[in-house]
Formats: sequence, C-alpha cells, structure tokens
Amino acid sequence: MRTSMNRDQIDTFFATLKAANPQPQTELAYSSVFELLAAVLLSAQATDVGVNKATRGLFAVAPTPQRMLALGVAGIEAHIKTIGLYRNKARHLHETCRRLMDLHGGEVPRERDLLEALPGVGRKTANVVLNVAFGEPTMAVDTHIFRVGNRTGLAPGKTPLAVEMALLRRVPPSYRVDAHHWLILHGRYVCQARSPRCGVCTVRATCDTGRRWTG
Ligand code: SF4
Repeated sequence: MRTSMNRDQIDTFFATLKAANPQPQTELAYSSVFELLAAVLLSAQATDVGVNKATRGLFAVAPTPQRMLALGVAGIEAHIKTIGLYRNKARHLHETCRRLMDLHGGEVPRERDLLEALPGVGRKTANVVLNVAFGEPTMAVDTHIFRVGNRTGLAPGKTPLAVEMALLRRVPPSYRVDAHHWLILHGRYVCQARSPRCGVCTVRATCDTGRRWTG
C-alpha cells in the first residue's frame, strides 16, 4: 500500500540530498534572466544538453529581447532546428520578445501572472524563472519531479499541479528554494523512469518505494 513520508523522513531526505550537493543549479546554460527565460521556453520535451547546444549560437547573436526580435522567426528557427517543436518554439520566443519590448521595457517581469501571459510560458516555466532568477520558493514540477514525488511518497498527486501543491505544503521552509533542483537531479540521475537505481540511492531509507526494495 502506498504511504506518505512523515516529517522526519522528509527532513532526512532533503538533508541527505543537500549534503551531497549543497548548492544545486539548473543545468541550462544562461547568462541573464532573459536568456534563462528563453532557454526554459525552449526546453519543453527537449534535454538540457540539447537546448544548451542550440542556445550557444542563438544567444551569441541574440542575447537580448531586442536582438532576438530583430533576428526574426526564421532566424531563430535556423539556430534551434535540432530541438523538438522548434517551429512553435521559435514563434513563441519571437512573440514573447515583442511583448517584453512593448509591455515590460525589455525586462523579464517577476510577477507570475505577467510571466504566464507571455506566449509559450506556462506555469512550469514561470516557476523555474521565479525560482532560479528571483529566488522564490517555487516548485517547477516536470516529469522527473512528478515521478519522484509520487514514488517516494514525498508529494503524492495525480497531476503536476497536485504534486506542486503537496511539495509547497510538505517541503520544510529551509529546503524550499533548492528543493526542485535536488528533485530534478535525483530523478534524472538516480530515480530514473524505467529503472530506478534503488541499490545505490542515498535516500532509500526514507523512500516509500525504497523501503520495500529487496534488491
Ligand atoms: S529508493 Fe528507488 S524509488 Fe526511492 S528515491 Fe531512490 S531510486 Fe527512487
């Protein structure tokens, strides 16, 4: 039967992840809030490695909304062709730059509703930008966090939003800003979708699935 982690287990879970990686970072490459927004916008259904390869050239020629707008949709497409859904993403990024210029003085807003009003920017993208760029304790639930939240019993939920809300309720305040990085990295490299590496998992003793693991 599925259970939830208790408070002590949650504390131990994050203390263990923090001890191994005290300052977790996004694996997306960026050098400004605008580049972060653009990289996250391009990252849906793509790997961070694939996005970084494409943005290296793109950000070299268009590091600002103004320059990206001037590049045009076709110019953006030429740089991001290796990324899935690139036509839609190029259109969204171009239109987002237009709105940043027209409505926000070329700056990335730090309000959730203004971020989510930008083309191609949903709740998850807004959560990443609010967290990584502005230090807000948001939880950007992607496929990795959804899986880890449910498997471990940390934040069970049927939808990404339900997992996000459970995380916001259950993650201790001192771990909240970094929690989504630890969870993504744990899901990417240890608690993998097809074959979770329970045998080498440092948080196994706190995990609902891990405690039933028999090797
Ligand atoms: S013990 Fe297994 S299921 Fe639990 S977090 Fe670790 S890898 Fe994932």
